[in-house]
Amino acid sequence: MMTLTIDGKTVSAPSGQSVLEAARVHGIEIPALCHHGDLTPVGSCRLCVVEVERDHQLAVACALGARAGMVVRTGTPRIVQARRAVLEMLLLRYDDTAQPERDSEFMRWVREYGASRSEAPSIARRFAVDADPHPFIRVDLNKCILCTRCVRACAEVQGRFVWGVAGRGEDSHIVAGLDTTMLEARCESCGACSAVCPSGALTDRNSLRESMGAPEHNVTTVCPYCGVGCGFDLNVREGKVVRVSSNAQAPVNGMHLCVKGRYGYGFLHDGARLQQPRVRRYLLEGRTRGPGEARDEWITVGWDDALEVVARRFAAIRAESGGDAFGILTSAKCTNEENYLLQKFARQVLGTHNVDHCARLCHASTVAGLSMAYGSGAMSNTLRDVAEEAAAVFLIGSNPTEQHPVFGTMLRQAVRKRRMPLVVADPRAIGLTEFAALHLRHWPGTDVALLNGLMHIILAKGWHDAQFIAQRTEGFAAWQHSLGAYTPARVSAITRVSEAELTRAASLLAHAKPMAVVWAMGITQHTSGVLNVLALANLQMLLGNVGMRGGGVNPLRGQNNVQGACDMGALSNQFPGYQGVGDAAVREKFAVAWALRNGQYPPFGNAPGLTVTEMISAAGQRALRALYIVGENPAATDPDLNHVRRSLQSAELVVLQEIFPSDTAEFADVLLPGAAWAEKSGTFTNTERRVQQVRQAIDPPGHARPDWDIVCGLAQRMLALQGSTPAGPQAGWDYASPDDILIEVGMLCPPYAGITPARLSRGETLHWPVPDTSHPGTPILHTECFSRGKGKFHLSEYLPPQELPDADYPLLLTTGRVLAHWHAGEMTRRVPGLLELYRQPLVEISPEDAARLHVAHKQPVRLASRRGEMQALAQVTDRVPPGVVFGNFHFPGEANVNNLTHSALDPLAKIPEFKVCAVRLVNSGTRTGKP
Ligand code: SF4
Repeated sequence: MMTLTIDGKTVSAPSGQSVLEAARVHGIEIPALCHHGDLTPVGSCRLCVVEVERDHQLAVACALGARAGMVVRTGTPRIVQARRAVLEMLLLRYDDTAQPERDSEFMRWVREYGASRSEAPSIARRFAVDADPHPFIRVDLNKCILCTRCVRACAEVQGRFVWGVAGRGEDSHIVAGLDTTMLEARCESCGACSAVCPSGALTDRNSLRESMGAPEHNVTTVCPYCGVGCGFDLNVREGKVVRVSSNAQAPVNGMHLCVKGRYGYGFLHDGARLQQPRVRRYLLEGRTRGPGEARDEWITVGWDDALEVVARRFAAIRAESGGDAFGILTSAKCTNEENYLLQKFARQVLGTHNVDHCARLCHASTVAGLSMAYGSGAMSNTLRDVAEEAAAVFLIGSNPTEQHPVFGTMLRQAVRKRRMPLVVADPRAIGLTEFAALHLRHWPGTDVALLNGLMHIILAKGWHDAQFIAQRTEGFAAWQHSLGAYTPARVSAITRVSEAELTRAASLLAHAKPMAVVWAMGITQHTSGVLNVLALANLQMLLGNVGMRGGGVNPLRGQNNVQGACDMGALSNQFPGYQGVGDAAVREKFAVAWALRNGQYPPFGNAPGLTVTEMISAAGQRALRALYIVGENPAATDPDLNHVRRSLQSAELVVLQEIFPSDTAEFADVLLPGAAWAEKSGTFTNTERRVQQVRQAIDPPGHARPDWDIVCGLAQRMLALQGSTPAGPQAGWDYASPDDILIEVGMLCPPYAGITPARLSRGETLHWPVPDTSHPGTPILHTECFSRGKGKFHLSEYLPPQELPDADYPLLLTTGRVLAHWHAGEMTRRVPGLLELYRQPLVEISPEDAARLHVAHKQPVRLASRRGEMQALAQVTDRVPPGVVFGNFHFPGEANVNNLTHSALDPLAKIPEFKVCAVRLVNSGTRTGKP
């Protein structure tokens, strides 16, 4: 640190800091246009000139390094005159007549320095206003002042290089690609360019400035889409969210967002939102529906009637058949507080462990495998320490630039700026393979063989960390013996990866320390999902990469709050905080906390309840009599949808709490309108265990209510009908706000014991476990020892997938998501710009298979498995290898790839094998032989 004087104030600055930044840190504002704190300084606009006392020279503050003893002045008359001259020069080429600007940074400085437009004719080249058809970004180059912030943001933040500068002298202008449209130049629509543009040349199309005027207020909250957990500000006017703007203080992402986070909020005000409860007529008339009977018409009712109908039916079923006649699906889109209440409702009010959610469909194998090996099923490190400190990253079964986009761009930048070696293992050529030192294109479903093969080579070469293994692990000797069978020749034959590539990958991974492993559903959604995770856990222990920054095991959780929903015990085998239902002391703890008086309160069962897919099947067979589904859409997201639809059709009673009439609504008997994320408060926990506040920005539409409020109303009615009153210290249901619920969570869920609303409001960053209110949180797990003591090597033998291609179904189908959409698409398909980016389902097929099957690019095709069919357009691309096709589940009905997927389960985690099944593909004019 050094000290210098700016405008008479003594300030300290670290070595290397510019005068501009040193001044800003100490509250002294120096105007700047080309400069932005997140971008490399270029010193081109010269607005930030200051005077340095010794030589009385004007110098550009953003490019002037702070020096000890320096004396700087920032506002002398000479400086003011120079700045005015700079602004007037910029105004020479600036033209906002088509759409006058008032609020841009540039116009603010123009006003403040009294810069005036020249009478002389403008030297600017004229551009067509709004010439680029981009759905979210409006381009008006007449307002461009050539500060090049957009060029640098696209390169340095997004790593996409869409924008550049073309022309010379007065003809200089920014240009997308080789003077194409932004999308043709491979724009990913993250909006980083418009977020930093100071002049209004690049703006968000839906922004207030274009439609409604300035926002009345901003509310800082967290993104509702993926598990990265980006923060941003919702701009609110007249009770509507009219824009999302970056918030530089957002702890995970700073100013950066992806297309869904920045532009995917329009669904909030979609006319199809559920606004009033609906109940089928026969329920209102007190009748039940027989097994073969169709559901009759919807009747719109008030909340009292709706909750009364549900509570009475639930109470009757419980009295007749007991608590295990119910199945409850909670939601990874709901807050922690709501998930806590939903599992409490299942266990305390209904008396069943039949409570689960979509983690079962995405990371159940991660939780099971990592718990066995390390004692904790969560991501061990933070996104930032992986991106900034890993010496190498091994990315397997994960496509972050499409599914966790802000983290994906962090990895891109790690490769670009730090030359970090990235090894990608994926059957598809995902976006990050462009940046990879090595792409292992192994055959789908052969992950265990690949990983064991890599570890075989590491051991054979002596590249393992013997000291770490000896000091911190157990089970090594037996496990090591099992690797003998995974010779490079055998592994190469199974995986179709050459022996040379296997050796190169093993060397790259073993010689970079710390190396971080990152994975997602390409690893977990297999019948061997737990074995895959165990193999990854073995790899990181073998190389001694656990318990340090930049290393660890890093499963990327899918939905915004899937980590939190698991933490809250929305799992059929665990109470909140991963406290097992099989543990008598745990059951006793919750029995005391949630005790009821005068009720028929049953003791908690000691066996796990049913999982997501088991519940749906059981409801179809009427082994379960009622499903209460909150914010989940099994009719779109579960495997083998024809089976799911038949099951839901046969179910006796389905109560669905949702924000839209989703695919599942067709099978519901009661529809309860819930609130979307912007309409309620609470907390989400992101993939790196960071607990963040979600703040209400607007009211729910119509009579919709927050899910926590609805379940409280239902619980109170049920307890009254059952003659029960709360007796235990945490047994009641009269919460004034989600803060009350979080406080109760802290009392019963040890990892959250020190997480309080007050600490979160103060902006504290808390990664669980936080054992008490003075604890700072735990960004890195397993530092001194593993959560289970010693890390344990587990045998993990390769097993092929359940269903492989054959003569009838000769292609292998693998599934996933695309950048513009999320999950079943209920929210993203209601944002017109996102639909414009990705309008209809595409099935990727290799050029070789397309030629063999006489299928042309963008031609309609039908894809069939033994379970069902889907319609899509063929996308002929070498992203997939010959023999493999890829589809997504973002579109409903006949366009959903889950019509085809297989419901075979991993025996331990009970996660379905979404990632591999056998299919055939024909062009749409040909019959597929529908099963
Ligand atoms: Fe939202 Fe994920 Fe995109 Fe961040 S990366 S803005 S959390 S969808």
